[in-house]
Amino acid sequence: MKKILYSLLLVLAFGSSTQLDARPYDAAKVEQVLAQAHALYKDDKSGANADYIPALAKVDSERFAIAVVTVNGEVFTRGDINTRFSIQSISKVFTLALAMEQKGAEAIRDKIGVNATGLPFNSVAAIELNEARAVNPLVNAGAMATVSLIGGDKAEQKWQAISAWYEQFATTKLGVLEEVYSSESNSNGHNLAIAELLKSYGRFYGDVDINLDIYTRQCSVGVTTKELAMMASVLANGGTHPISGERLMSADNVERVLAVMTTAGLYETSGQWAYTVGLPAKSGVGGGIIAIMPGKFAIAAFSPRLDGAGNSVRAQKAIGYIADKAKANIFSHQD
Ligand code: GLN
Repeated sequence: MKKILYSLLLVLAFGSSTQLDARPYDAAKVEQVLAQAHALYKDDKSGANADYIPALAKVDSERFAIAVVTVNGEVFTRGDINTRFSIQSISKVFTLALAMEQKGAEAIRDKIGVNATGLPFNSVAAIELNEARAVNPLVNAGAMATVSLIGGDKAEQKWQAISAWYEQFATTKLGVLEEVYSSESNSNGHNLAIAELLKSYGRFYGDVDINLDIYTRQCSVGVTTKELAMMASVLANGGTHPISGERLMSADNVERVLAVMTTAGLYETSGQWAYTVGLPAKSGVGGGIIAIMPGKFAIAAFSPRLDGAGNSVRAQKAIGYIADKAKANIFSHQD
């Protein structure tokens, strides 16, 4: 019944069709919307690559890709779809999901925090300004503390758990981009300071060096835009993978992850994003962004130039365009 409803919503979203089978909506229309989004923004040169991690400054700024994966497991792509880039902060979503599955939603709320900081992703002030030292799992401070919550006695064990978890979402093997990893490891002083500060307040739950290293590795995981959309599709489908059919997380936990994405996924511009686009999303300084329309589809877009908050300019515009054409907005009234 639920599947049929999803299919109906897809028909409404992407155009009319009379069928309710495996291809219930107008696939050509979806392709067309993706092509339009790509054509509209491919020449937009605003913003700049992240350069505080030297390896990111060297990535080809012109790369641009878009992918949609529906809850029925259909995949639509456009642009530089085979380009592999570092997942960066989008990894925070999936590590949060794992920590929530392992420790429960309350532990995340109580030990990390789930309110928006309203401040940049690497803000030290955010920790100092909040008396309880609460942040959220999608800014660097909270994300590193979330890594420290993941079970595993040894660093390698923990890393294996996290990377295997990502691969279940991606339905493929993923590797670390070694150049990004070493570049980021060698320019990590700010994150180290944040982790030490949290630890001093009793808000970090393991060894600082080990967990910082795992965090850096998770940010350096290489993904294509299609793999990213595949990972995100699990969140669109209530925790069950649209392709493998496997339940990876509880529907309750998906709701909570999407809530944090809505309030903090694009850092200090999350409010503006919710106001204009209305989809839970998460960006990474590698240039990727994922956005979720629950019960319908996930969108991933990638292009390296970022705005001042660290969110890809073209990816935001492309996702905004597709969401608008699909009438996808979690705040809108659906008949
Ligand atoms: N690895 C990056 C960092 O720690 C992630 C930041 C981001 O993508 N916003 O700074």
